[in-house]
Amino acid sequence: MGIFRLLTILLIIWLVYALYKRYIKNKSQTRSSKKAKNLEKVVKCEYCAMHIPEHEAIVDKGRYYCTEEHKRISKNK
Ligand SMILES: [Zn+2]
Repeated sequence: MGIFRLLTILLIIWLVYALYKRYIKNKSQTRSSKKAKNLEKVVKCEYCAMHIPEHEAIVDKGRYYCTEEHKRISKNK
């Protein structure tokens, strides 16, 4: 009966370890997705005041525009 008890203990230890590993993984995943959200900066178009993600905006001398067209119109104003 000794070996059976030992195997049961080992199984419990393995289960706890597996659950702990999964918990750590979930925790780090939530943290990284949160970080990615913060990196997504929203900027305002100088011409029409529309809000757009920074990577989609057209930047000109520190000013943001939603389209190339608005950059041109705003300059000619
Ligand atoms: Zn615009």
